[in-house]
Amino acid sequence: MAGEITREHASSSSRLDGRVAIVTGASRGIGRAIAIHLHSLGARVVLNYASSSTKADLLASELNASATLSHPQAIAVRADVSDPDQVKLLFDRAEQEFGSIHILVNSAGVLDPKYPTLANTSVEDWDMTFNINTKGAFFCCKEAANRLKRGGNGRIIMISTSVVGSLLPGYAAYAASKAAVETMTKIVAKELKGTGVTANAVAPGPVATDLFFEGKSEETIKMIADACPLGRLGEPKDVTHVVGFLASDAGEWINGQVIRVNGGFVV
Ligand code: NAP
Repeated sequence: MAGEITREHASSSSRLDGRVAIVTGASRGIGRAIAIHLHSLGARVVLNYASSSTKADLLASELNASATLSHPQAIAVRADVSDPDQVKLLFDRAEQEFGSIHILVNSAGVLDPKYPTLANTSVEDWDMTFNINTKGAFFCCKEAANRLKRGGNGRIIMISTSVVGSLLPGYAAYAASKAAVETMTKIVAKELKGTGVTANAVAPGPVATDLFFEGKSEETIKMIADACPLGRLGEPKDVTHVVGFLASDAGEWINGQVIRVNGGFVV
């Protein structure tokens, strides 16, 4: 058995050197933090956004300035994920710039800041939520399933939400839109048998971002933070490491799973 004991280079199996990652919703919040983390692990990153061009361009410049290499390590690409043609163009642009794509992290998402009960949810708001969170996830996942590099290292990581578990009143459309994403992710993981591409969902709990704060009173925010066993809201960086791990070679054996990252807010 002596040959089984080797000194593993933990750092090499956790690194993403030579990999290309598309991160949707990378201009702000959780997606931005994920893009920065994947870049810190060595990946070249495509920063997708819908309207925040200044923020996305600035982040791309900062990532390129921090790299020692002369060719670009990050580009910002505008694309509305709810439009299948724009999602195709996002992937086209990524391939033109960097070649094969290895990783998709789909973080683009919206939450209705009115927090309506189901009885008070308008058809327009339901459609808006599903168009971005569910159809957007489908379009990105579909392109990734067809186009991610075969033969190992391919990774699909969909950002869901722990509200699928906590089932808070006021979140019916949002939670339902993400529950569909979780189910889709588990099935695509099986459909990608033989490709070496894994598919998982990461489901954060409350995280201090624009999406979380919008429409909430100070009292509600405090109540939610108090409900977290660690007594605080999550920060985007609380979510990045698990995404980096899933994206790496070390994360290969985790496939078809939903991983809740919420400090114990809900199991
Ligand atoms: P955020 O700070 O509001 O950022 C949302 C990001 O999504 C922005 O980059 C935004 O781009 C992009 N986006 C929105 N609509 C888009 C579209 N149609 N096409 C392309 N990009 C679009 O939100 P966040 O809190 O980081 O949320 C990120 C993900 O985490 C979401 O999927 C959300 O459901 C999930 N999540 C968040 C929390 C939380 O408490 N914050 C908890 C669980 C799960 P622009 O800047 O260009 O608008």
